[in-house]
Amino acid sequence: MMEQFIEIKAANPDSLLFYRMGDFYELFFDDAEAASRALGIVLTKRGKHQGHDIPMCGVPVHAADDYLQKLIGLGFRVAVCEQIEDPAEAKKRGSKSVVKRDVVRLVTPGTITEEKLLAPSESSFLMALGRVKGGADNTYALAWIELSTGIFRVAETSADNLLADIFRVDPRELIIAEPVFYDEELKPVFDLVGRVASPQPPSLFDSASAPARIARFFEVATPDSFGTFSRAELSAISGIVAYVEKTQKAERPPLSRPEREQSGSTLFIDPATRANLELLRTMGGSRDGSLFKAIDRTVTGAGARMLADRLMSPLTDPKTINQRFDSIAFFLSERRLSESLRACLKGVADMPRALTRLALNRGSPRDLGALRSGFEAALALRTLFTDVIAPAEVTAALEAISALPIRFADHLTAALGDELPLLKRDGGFVRSGYHAELDEMRALRDESRRVIAGMERDLIEETGIRSLKIRHNNVLGYYIEVTANHQAIMMGSDEAKGRFIHRQTMANAMRFTTTELAEMETKIANAAERALSIELGVFDVLVAESVGQAQVIRSGAAALAVLDVSAALAVLALAEAWCRPVVDASLAFEIVGGRHPVVEQALRRAAANEFVANDCDLSPEDGAKAGAIWLLTGPNMGGKSTFLRQNALIAILAQMGSYVPAKSASIGVVDRLFSRVGASDDLARGRSTFMVEMVETAAILNQAGERALVILDEIGRGTATFDGLSIAWAAVEYLHEKNRCRAIFATHFHEMTALAGKLERLHNVTMRVKEWEGDVVFLHEVGKGAADRSYGVQVARLAGLPDAVVQRAKDVLHQLEAGETSGKADRLVDDLPLFSAVVKKEAPAPAKNDALGGALAALNLDEMTPRQAQEALYRLKEML
Ligand code: ADP
Repeated sequence: MMEQFIEIKAANPDSLLFYRMGDFYELFFDDAEAASRALGIVLTKRGKHQGHDIPMCGVPVHAADDYLQKLIGLGFRVAVCEQIEDPAEAKKRGSKSVVKRDVVRLVTPGTITEEKLLAPSESSFLMALGRVKGGADNTYALAWIELSTGIFRVAETSADNLLADIFRVDPRELIIAEPVFYDEELKPVFDLVGRVASPQPPSLFDSASAPARIARFFEVATPDSFGTFSRAELSAISGIVAYVEKTQKAERPPLSRPEREQSGSTLFIDPATRANLELLRTMGGSRDGSLFKAIDRTVTGAGARMLADRLMSPLTDPKTINQRFDSIAFFLSERRLSESLRACLKGVADMPRALTRLALNRGSPRDLGALRSGFEAALALRTLFTDVIAPAEVTAALEAISALPIRFADHLTAALGDELPLLKRDGGFVRSGYHAELDEMRALRDESRRVIAGMERDLIEETGIRSLKIRHNNVLGYYIEVTANHQAIMMGSDEAKGRFIHRQTMANAMRFTTTELAEMETKIANAAERALSIELGVFDVLVAESVGQAQVIRSGAAALAVLDVSAALAVLALAEAWCRPVVDASLAFEIVGGRHPVVEQALRRAAANEFVANDCDLSPEDGAKAGAIWLLTGPNMGGKSTFLRQNALIAILAQMGSYVPAKSASIGVVDRLFSRVGASDDLARGRSTFMVEMVETAAILNQAGERALVILDEIGRGTATFDGLSIAWAAVEYLHEKNRCRAIFATHFHEMTALAGKLERLHNVTMRVKEWEGDVVFLHEVGKGAADRSYGVQVARLAGLPDAVVQRAKDVLHQLEAGETSGKADRLVDDLPLFSAVVKKEAPAPAKNDALGGALAALNLDEMTPRQAQEALYRLKEML
């Protein structure tokens, strides 16, 4: 057996091998050690190999999904090795013969299909990178699928855009041909992608043999009928297909045909921006607090996945974007319809995922039930739309839903019972009345059970043993059981011995059978076995039928998701008072009363101050051919970052086809969104904060065109003042003159506000504050003009810096400001006493004064009469 194990393991070196033995998957050697550590299960040993103990651990088959989930989550791959013949067969070959086993499936992060291992509202993409030499340069393409739903897309990319395109899809697993994976130039990209990326044999990606491989997989003569693909795209598609074949072995999932994404059809968001804006996850990695969480009102898993997909890939074509707005407007005007629709959709199970499991032979009767429930809901909701005129996107969805195979739906309804077991081998899922022979077998089985009950009564009468029972277990089948004290009756006479055949003696019971009971047993077993085999036959027919209709079922399910997303966005827009933006081909960017959706909801939850809405207008002014730049100053904590982000988020929301948190919004399509916000420290990679900031700023200045939207927060903060100011200054000039894009630039360098006099499309705005009794009050209002001071010292005080430090800082600031005209910092140093001097000045006074202070502090002036006050004053004076 160990020989067999070692052989199979050698063929799957990069996976943990789950080696099936009876009711367990066992792991051996290093696998056992890794798994026991990862899963916290006991490490034991079994036998010896080359004189050493063999480490072993195991997980029960029935609980394997839970362990798989954990291992996959930790980044392991698992090869599931099953017995592929009946142990009886092996015995026939000789007593020492080992049962044949083989790996039936590789479980990897990007290829899981189990309901338990997948989050209903999260996609789980597998992605492949294709690269070919095209003339002098390399060309790149990415292909990605979701195995569990059959989605299959492909798009060209470039070395520069690679990382952004990978993060846009956010795959669970990225496979790359070895030579590409180890390419020095791409190393930084794959380092950032992390362990999601893995090298694979280059043969998987061979673009020359790709067409044949793809044609074979999809059972077509040539992949030309799917459209024209570049060689890099073919290579990526081939990589995916080959990897699916490699991991799924004999089974073939029903993937859609690869759909090509036109380059430039989605809003380019660079990886840092994507992370900083916390679209799907916060920087800390949680879904709570993300934009997605704040906008998700969908009622189905497929709807939530589609919403996330749209959020990650906003569009650039105003026509499609406006069609999405039309759908939302429709559901806003048809509120009752929208409510009924959502009630209907709630009953829809995850059809595409159920379909994939069925096709991969991992399906259960409940997966068929999922399809049935989807069909039923689809039929019901179609009738909701009979009297309305729906916009294009909704109409197209309804058409796809109408195309769902009604006859198959009827077949499912007729064939499947109401209660469905988790496993098909448990039987009992075919509706009675559907299959005549099955009904007959079930009747026979039930009849026999009645006969057995009768036999029990007769035997009690015959033997006089009141406690006699006929029972059943898997080892003996049906048997008669009596307590041990009745041995004499059952075995005392020859006659009894002839009648009752002894089977087993327990501590205080004895078990027997009789000829009639054994006959009945066989009859029942046969009937049950026949019934199950009929049920399994029905199951196979239904599976074949569903797989045969995979394409229409998937389109219908996607259409249901479209309705879910549109209705959910309408619900959101209504509840949160969002507006329909104008999105067109202009260069406008005019937001009136814009809000930050996540911060606004958080403030509401905390019952804190209401969110203050703010306008933003970067539209080209009369005659100007380019958008404006806003230079935003204001104190820390004033709301600068919130304002910057909210405008970026509004652009994303508008272009994904959602209403936006504003009173009105007019946006000329943005093609690239860049931001440099927050301190996304990259210290782990040995870069300083300043270095990261400069790398990101460089990328922006090198890439942003006039359609871009750029959001920059405090560039130059990470270095000495004059350095920082100079860099920020030059960057703004460059944005204005060269990039000519719409931009908001937040800075604490007040000197920069002078630029407004020189750059015509640059405007100064500031976060308003009020001073009140020496404190600052943040109004969170963006107004025209520049901040007159930064209130840093006041903010520091709010943060709880020791009073002595705050006081001292005020002095220093005062002096600095006074000396600003002469501009000599070293003079300031002379003028100002050293910090220690101040501390000395405030050094503790004599102990006597402390007692005085204590007494003074203890007085409660509000409670004292004038007379008591005077007395206290005398007492204090005495203490001096
Ligand atoms: P800055 O970037 O200027 O330091 P932030 O944008 O981080 O300031 O905002 C500081 C805090 O002020 C936020 O956490 C938020 O709670 C609050 N805030 C910001 N903008 C607004 C607003 N428009 N209305 C209400 N509260 C706001």
